[in-house]
Amino acid sequence: MTSITILGGGVAGLTAAVQLAERGLRPLLLEAEPEQIGGRLRDTPPVTVEHAGEAWSFPAEHGVHGIWSPYRNLLALLERHGITPDMAPSREETWIYGEGRSVRMAHIGSAIRGSWVPAPFHYLALFLRPSFLAMLTPADIVSMFAVEGSLIGVMAIDPLAEGKSLAGMTLADLTRGWSPRIRSLFAGLARNALAAHPEQAPAAGFIAFLRFYTLLRRDAWGFHYLRGTGGGGISGPLAAKARELGVEIRLGSRATRLERAGQGWRVTYERGGQEHAVESEQVVLALDSPSAARLLRDSPPTAAQAADMVFPAGVPTVIMRFWYDTTPKGAVAETGICTGDFLVDNFFWLHRLQPAYQAWHEATGGSAVEAHIYGPQEIADRPDGALLAQTSFDMARAFPELRDRMIHCTIDRNPATHTLFTPGAPERSLAVRTPWPGLVACGDWVFDPNPALYLERATTTGMLAANAVLEACGLEPWPLLPHPSPEPLAGAMARGLQRLRHAMLRRRARGKE
Ligand SMILES: Cc1cc2nc3c(=O)[nH]c(=O)nc-3n(C[C@H](O)[C@H](O)[C@H](O)COP(=O)(O)OP(=O)(O)OC[C@H]3O[C@@H](n4cnc5c(N)ncnc54)[C@H](O)[C@@H]3O)c2cc1C
Repeated sequence: MTSITILGGGVAGLTAAVQLAERGLRPLLLEAEPEQIGGRLRDTPPVTVEHAGEAWSFPAEHGVHGIWSPYRNLLALLERHGITPDMAPSREETWIYGEGRSVRMAHIGSAIRGSWVPAPFHYLALFLRPSFLAMLTPADIVSMFAVEGSLIGVMAIDPLAEGKSLAGMTLADLTRGWSPRIRSLFAGLARNALAAHPEQAPAAGFIAFLRFYTLLRRDAWGFHYLRGTGGGGISGPLAAKARELGVEIRLGSRATRLERAGQGWRVTYERGGQEHAVESEQVVLALDSPSAARLLRDSPPTAAQAADMVFPAGVPTVIMRFWYDTTPKGAVAETGICTGDFLVDNFFWLHRLQPAYQAWHEATGGSAVEAHIYGPQEIADRPDGALLAQTSFDMARAFPELRDRMIHCTIDRNPATHTLFTPGAPERSLAVRTPWPGLVACGDWVFDPNPALYLERATTTGMLAANAVLEACGLEPWPLLPHPSPEPLAGAMARGLQRLRHAMLRRRARGKE
């Protein structure tokens, strides 16, 4: 009997595997993908481009990733294992707003993280930037007071710590009454942050995003880009470490059913077109949300309760890369978010970030950009040609020097497994400790009061899942590093506003009695 089986080899599953193996356990990890470990951080086949009489090879991945400064547990895990991904600090991000022929842009990122005003008023440094003000109409400028007021208002609620799902409330509700361009900026942030449009982006998810990444600390918005790929820099080395510590990783192994086997579990999985099974005392479920929902609802012991649980939606992502034989001039930031009538959601200048692209840029003067579209499904479903044509048109609108200069392009469609982060009501969400004995869960969508999102949430829930197993085995759990606390003013205001909200809720409840 294998004592522990981990299902899924993304960052969450790999974190759990390494943490367990470091305590002397030898889990088996089943990963559905046949070639690559890493889930949404995995590499994809390299791309070869013929240019200037040479064949140039470029690494590719699921999508460019950034590592934000509050990702303490991920960074500590990597450091402990001597994994040092090559990273470059973010310097600037551009907001590009398109409306027909008019395209405006302003640098926004550095104003927020480098603001001279303490949080939560640090956005004032952005609001007062001439280039930002030039993006706005008088109505937008008047609306900014309401925006700052709303941002401060949302400090009164911590959806994760309080277990408040704000069910049915979306970002569109939160930003109602704001002027069109400011709403458009927040719609762009929601698409980048939650991979969803404002009508689909849960208000609680957006508030959790704001609280973790920007609202309570200026430096929380500081981040580094992985200069190599996510697979080469993080998930590959983590998998190598797991193997070195004795974890067996079986690629191409898709779990299809869970059944009880005595006190433990029997996991049925498909591999090489055949059905296999493994029995273990403990199972760590480290799948993306849609796959976890499917497996639990298809498995007799978990089906009934899982049918009542809310699983965050999975969002498709489309990753396009364009190579040009010229480079945009001027103060171009490494990355940008696009709003207004742009189809594309964000983009990253690869020749500014990744060594293979940099070498090609230096040799030829060319530039390369990776553009992302995050759902919704009806946009992702458009034919390749339509998405590539519209995105290259968008890029040329934003950077006219690129018009008619494209030499190559690619499009990759990631499956609809990216998490639409949706803090659920605790009683209807799957948490690390599931209702089923011997089955724990981890992943960037799994319910837990800790404030982290995405890669850091995958890591922290992976650690917590490992800790639950270690506890069951009588072994010492791993300490979690606390996430950075709010700046003093933001912390005091958040506590005060939260107390005020609770007092108002109590008064309202008494009034109803
Ligand atoms: C385009 C893009 C850009 C992103 N950028 C950032 C960023 O800049 N910063 C950031 O923090 N996050 C970013 N993210 C999110 C980040 O990639 C995820 O939060 C993180 O990788 C999730 O890890 P996970 O282990 O929870 O899930 P996953 O990586 O989804 O891992 C789940 C694994 O389970 C496997 N699996 C599924 N079903 C089965 C089955 N039945 N049996 C066995 N295995 C199965 C899958 O193949 C997968 O390997 C981005 C995501 C995308 C899509």
